[in-house]
Amino acid sequence: MDAAEFRRRGKEMVDYVADYLENIEKRQVYPDVEPGYLRSLIPEEAPLEAESYEDVVKDIERVIMPGVTHWHSPYFYAYFPTAHSFPAMLADMLCGAIGCIGFSWAASPACTELETVMLDWLGKMLKLPEDFLAGTEGSGGGVIQGTASEATLIALLAARSKIVKLIQTDHPDRSETDIISKLVAYSSDQFCATLGTTPSCAFDCITELGPICNAEKIWMHIDAAYAGSAFICPEFRPLLNGIEFADSFNFNPHKWLLVNFDCSAMWVKKRSDIIGAFKIEPLYLKHDHQESGNQSHWQIPLGRRFRSLKMWFVFRMYGLKGLQAYIRKHVGLAKEFESLVKADQRFEISADVVLGLVCFRLKGSNELNEILLKRINSARKIHLVPCQLAGKFVLRFAVCARTTESRHVREAWSHISHLASELLQELRH
Ligand SMILES: *Cc1c(COP(=O)(O)O)cnc(C)c1O
Repeated sequence: MDAAEFRRRGKEMVDYVADYLENIEKRQVYPDVEPGYLRSLIPEEAPLEAESYEDVVKDIERVIMPGVTHWHSPYFYAYFPTAHSFPAMLADMLCGAIGCIGFSWAASPACTELETVMLDWLGKMLKLPEDFLAGTEGSGGGVIQGTASEATLIALLAARSKIVKLIQTDHPDRSETDIISKLVAYSSDQFCATLGTTPSCAFDCITELGPICNAEKIWMHIDAAYAGSAFICPEFRPLLNGIEFADSFNFNPHKWLLVNFDCSAMWVKKRSDIIGAFKIEPLYLKHDHQESGNQSHWQIPLGRRFRSLKMWFVFRMYGLKGLQAYIRKHVGLAKEFESLVKADQRFEISADVVLGLVCFRLKGSNELNEILLKRINSARKIHLVPCQLAGKFVLRFAVCARTTESRHVREAWSHISHLASELLQELRH
């Protein structure tokens, strides 16, 4: 494919994507395929001779789409949202075109610098304490990780490295292995301090945990993977109170802030704590501007993509107000669903509805709710997943797609309520 064909095919692909998204409601949200469906649809080996672009494109609808769960369908209410917007997709295209591996400032100055500034922009949107911002002379700062899981692991490794060094300052004779064998990490069943847990979007009381951690010199990492995006709204910002006690914090703009996967934003109060844990400096990575930032010292891999472009496009094209309106709309839709559930005496709400997630169940046994969920998902009209809360089997309704409207939520509820009626009717006979 040369540049001339790329121009043509690129425009065709943009049309395909726009058609897909404009008509996504017409597709069944959850696929009908069985495990292993795909292997028999394509050859056993890669082609020896080149195929044409047309041949490849023809197979999208034949091979791929039948096995896609449509996360951006307004009938998708499972898990948590994964962010999605046109500006972010365009930025990703540019990222692919530049195709740099920004492990050091010299490897691509724009990649390193834009990321630092975007994390400052985002930190300011969240009103993070000044300590977490890099600015021009701050000692904190932010970095993009692939996922919240990586951010948490990085925090754990940085905490370990920091405490080992601290102990060795007072006891130079003690070996690293000896110290590490005695370290303790405290966690709940959600692992670390969490704002907005995955099952029910519950919030740890970090204003209580924080001072204890600080007094005992325990590194506090806070994970707000889903809920973090909401903190850009002043009415939800109090949920982040206590952040001043944390050493590190992360949330996923790739969940709820319109920046396509992957983009987990992570901040630390002291950059040196993280860099100290990951620094490697072979000769081929040395350059004349070492002090200008080297984000590969903040992560597990060496290579990194130009992911901040997605943030830059999205933040500028929505503006803080547009992003706030988006969050508020989703919270409003969750509240609407909650009130529909509450108005039905057969159902109960299982956890406070704070943001865009509603946990609910039929009053009655776990088995009853398991059957209801099975029927909902096999009907294929909407897609939900369950969770377990204090021994109870609970259904989760997460407002996910960017294009979800009140009519979709009401339709989803009347579908659920209809299936519940059928089920309860059958049980009476
Ligand atoms: C979704 C979620 C995660 C996992 O996110 P990844 O970025 O996929 O690792 C971690 N913590 C919480 C609280 C989440 O909701």
